[in-house]
Amino acid sequence: MNASLSGKKALVTGGSRGIGRAVALTLARAGADVTVCHLTENEAALTLARELKDVPGDHRVVRVDVRDRDQVRELVEDCRTRGGLDVVVNNAGVISHVPFGDLGEDEWHRIIDTHLTGAFLVTQLALPLLGPGSSVVNIGSRAAMVGIPTRSHYTAAKAGLTGFSRSLCKELGGRGVRVNVVDPGVIETEAASAMPPERYARLRERYEELTSLGRLGEPDEVADVVLFLASDLSRYVTGASIPVDGGI
Ligand code: NDP
Repeated sequence: MNASLSGKKALVTGGSRGIGRAVALTLARAGADVTVCHLTENEAALTLARELKDVPGDHRVVRVDVRDRDQVRELVEDCRTRGGLDVVVNNAGVISHVPFGDLGEDEWHRIIDTHLTGAFLVTQLALPLLGPGSSVVNIGSRAAMVGIPTRSHYTAAKAGLTGFSRSLCKELGGRGVRVNVVDPGVIETEAASAMPPERYARLRERYEELTSLGRLGEPDEVADVVLFLASDLSRYVTGASIPVDGGI
């Protein structure tokens, strides 16, 4: 048994940059045909499309809003015509910091819809394509376990993703579909460093102290765990939440 995804087809949401980009490249290099979706027209997506061209396989990068049922339906239909799906990675996400007293309903829904409703729509619409041996990997967050000030909406969405995954694991186990969660700590991506610089510097310092490994994580370090969960190496792993946080 090895981590090869040769002959498999994977969908990675929010894969234009950060963790999703690392996941897309890792799965493609492991032999999967990878479909990546992302939200906005941007240079990162064009760069990823160029990078994927250098990796053998049938890869593509498309703009799809995971909150939009019609767009997701079209995306999944396209995956079906290209031979189906074996791996779904629900990674699309947005970072938001708002003190609870100021948190408006629009922002609450934007975060819940992107992280939680997006995973629901993508997984439910992809379900008919997922046969025995398929793997769904949801990208959660360590933040959901510990709580973070100004991120009540985000942590609610990520905690919801854990419950969602555990229930699905039980519901889909009988048809041989595995569902797991990867919970990153602080990973060096654009999103993480987009917070105010002094706050990011404080966070980095704190993480250097708090983590057993004394540093922040890299997107590739999350992607390698996703590869494990996507591959047959993890064929008896389902309903798990795996922290990738340097040992906080
Ligand atoms: P980035 O901001 O770097 O990337 C986010 C990705 O999600 C982009 O590809 C973006 O597309 C896409 N996206 C956002 N909204 C949508 C949408 N509605 N539909 C489709 N795609 C969308 O984030 P990270 O790589 O840092 O985070 C990835 C995941 O990991 C998220 O779920 C995040 O919550 C989680 N996470 C991250 C941690 C970290 O420290 N970085 C820690 C713990 C969890 P576009 O480029 O087009 O905007």
